[in-house]
Amino acid sequence: MKRIFAVPGIRIGAWVPFLLVGLIACSSPGEVEQSTQTNVRVSGNTITWNTEEPALTAVGYRYPDSDIWNVAYPSPNLRRDKAFVTNHSVTLMRPQEGDKILVVLVNRLASQRDFLTGEEFEVELTSGPPTGPLLRWTMVDVGFGDSHFLRMPNSGKTILVDGGERQDFSNVDEFLKSESVTSLDYVMATHIHADHIGGLVGNSDSVSDGILGVYDVGMYIDTVIKSHTRFAYDEALATLANRGIPKANIQVGDNSDTTELLDWDEEVYVEILNAGGGAAIGGTSEGDQLNNDSIMFRVTMGEVNFIMGGDSEAPVETKVTAEFGEALESEVLKVHHHGVNDASNTGFLQAVNPRVGMIPIASFETSDGGLPTFAVVNRLRASGIDVYSNDRAEPIGIDFVTTTSPTDGLNITLVTNGDLYEIEVAPSRSFHSLKGGTMPVLKGQNPEDFREGDQ
Ligand SMILES: [Zn+2]
Repeated sequence: MKRIFAVPGIRIGAWVPFLLVGLIACSSPGEVEQSTQTNVRVSGNTITWNTEEPALTAVGYRYPDSDIWNVAYPSPNLRRDKAFVTNHSVTLMRPQEGDKILVVLVNRLASQRDFLTGEEFEVELTSGPPTGPLLRWTMVDVGFGDSHFLRMPNSGKTILVDGGERQDFSNVDEFLKSESVTSLDYVMATHIHADHIGGLVGNSDSVSDGILGVYDVGMYIDTVIKSHTRFAYDEALATLANRGIPKANIQVGDNSDTTELLDWDEEVYVEILNAGGGAAIGGTSEGDQLNNDSIMFRVTMGEVNFIMGGDSEAPVETKVTAEFGEALESEVLKVHHHGVNDASNTGFLQAVNPRVGMIPIASFETSDGGLPTFAVVNRLRASGIDVYSNDRAEPIGIDFVTTTSPTDGLNITLVTNGDLYEIEVAPSRSFHSLKGGTMPVLKGQNPEDFREGDQ
């Protein structure tokens, strides 16, 4: 895995190190174009600084012996309007008192599209983090497909949303084992396409493999009105019956107060925005209609919200935007349909107004590196949304692209205590199968390309 700081890199200008115990040279600082960060201060767990130009900012940090990067964002209270400002303050949520960490400040200037970083420097923290139980959502690296693991802050309940393709059962299984998960309170399939439901039933047509065939599952959450029932859905039903796993349906409007199915944690509120009925919502092909069956839901803990919705395409996004409007506003959005250009429409992005976009895709597992599409990635960037996928993490300017090694995927995790949130970028151990037998040359270079079919 290679790490390359953003180009152009910008040196920290006339700053005054305070409680900084050392400096570590940036790996590729580039040319000094201008001074951008000034008055950098570290007090307790909070880092403050100024930029000459208004900017969106974040703080990347890691432990010296760790290959896991964390990106801490300003509190939602400070960035509710996602305003570009010159005075910045970010409180780190997890490092403990006395911890020594390596820090890099990230500034996205209003006048420029690129992310600009300063030099990495070491900080010894003088006080512990804000306390509080943590909610975790991991976008598990399944290469091509969706699989999301949620762990609730107080109840400890575990929820798996989708399981990747059939061949990804082993990837999801390995991830869950690494999290010491032996049972799942809920399994939800957003819709029945093979890259979402496949890993739930596994490689064979047996009822004894896949997540549903192996793990103890408390409840399978389903939808009522499906546009079509094909692919592995029959096998999923057979597996549920064979193992005695109960199944229950949710629908639009259901939330944590109205149904036990969504009563995941005393501090977490879940609401369903879309669920089934894709054929009536829109889409010209069966594939489109199945995508528009996707369950879309919003999760809230304190001040932090996130939305995920399978492969919902523009018709669902338009419908949800009309129904919920500004109430959709969330810090983090799971970018729908793997970054295909038939989703992530502008109106929806404006309503959600996220700071972070998580795209479940690794470009090297697409047929020609065409996902996420250039158009979608650029739309996200232009909207001030930081892009993370299973092979890239843009905000800290670190290039994780691995066109020569498909063993280098990423698990991306949102961690929040309801006040602050961080994105964790960790190497995955997932196996990737290359589509089309060749490695893509460069991803995101073909503006209109997207794959048709069972996505
Ligand atoms: Zn999909």
